[in-house]
Amino acid sequence: MLQGKIAVVTGGTRGIGLATVKKFLENGASVALFGSRKESADTAVAALKAENPDYRIAGLWPDLSSAAEIGKAFDAVKAEFGSPDILVNNAGISATDPLYTYRPEDFEKIMGLNVTAVFLCSQAAARLMREKGGGVILNTSSMVSIYGQSTGCGYPASKFAVNGLTKSLARELGKDNIRVNAVAPGVIATDMMAAVPEEALKPIIDAIPLGRIGQPEDIANAFLFLASDMASYITGAVLSVDGAGRS
Ligand code: NAD
Repeated sequence: MLQGKIAVVTGGTRGIGLATVKKFLENGASVALFGSRKESADTAVAALKAENPDYRIAGLWPDLSSAAEIGKAFDAVKAEFGSPDILVNNAGISATDPLYTYRPEDFEKIMGLNVTAVFLCSQAAARLMREKGGGVILNTSSMVSIYGQSTGCGYPASKFAVNGLTKSLARELGKDNIRVNAVAPGVIATDMMAAVPEEALKPIIDAIPLGRIGQPEDIANAFLFLASDMASYITGAVLSVDGAGRS
């Protein structure tokens, strides 16, 4: 479905990002994954190469708070594979801090990675995509972007902002043939959820009509569809992939 396409996936070293990188590779794309550290990027690339030595994959670790570093990383992708056709803004962190003790620097940290980095990477990618004649930008939102959550308000606030970027950039970039969509995952089995205590997780899973927690591949499949030409008339959408869970 992505034969000959060039993709960048941020937070591509594990969880939803790694599953998406793998799905894109299996479907013929060349992929640059961005991680937070050299070691985790190298490990992910080595594991994928071990699965299939023919995969066209590169690992980078730009500081996602720096426009200059992001610019250099996109230049490196262009030099290695060509200008990207697809960007998946997936790197993210969550929060559970109660408002009363929430430190302003922690609120700013989550907004920095979950929102400002999405803006910066989209800007760098869109400049190259416009030059190339089009592209696709996909964002990892969350079901909390629809319902909020009862503690750690920085996290849902950041994902509401991701939806805002998605819908606004879809309107701004349509004229440049760049589609912009988001996937809003429900509860997905990744390291992020491993931090949630079992007793807190069980009632959430019990309330999911499909009766199970989501797997990273469930989200990767949605990204594959939205990245492909099958979604050629879809832009500005926030696609819930949550088993109809509403927590
Ligand atoms: P994860 O913790 O397994 O992976 C997070 C990824 O982000 C990693 O690749 C990590 O390297 C990267 N990252 C973290 N901090 C970074 C930093 N400072 N700079 C660069 N990269 C950094 O989590 P996941 O569950 O796979 O989450 C991926 C995305 O999915 C996030 O945006 C998250 O908010 C979203 N999401 C997850 C769930 C869930 O239930 N797991 C639900 C809804 C949305």
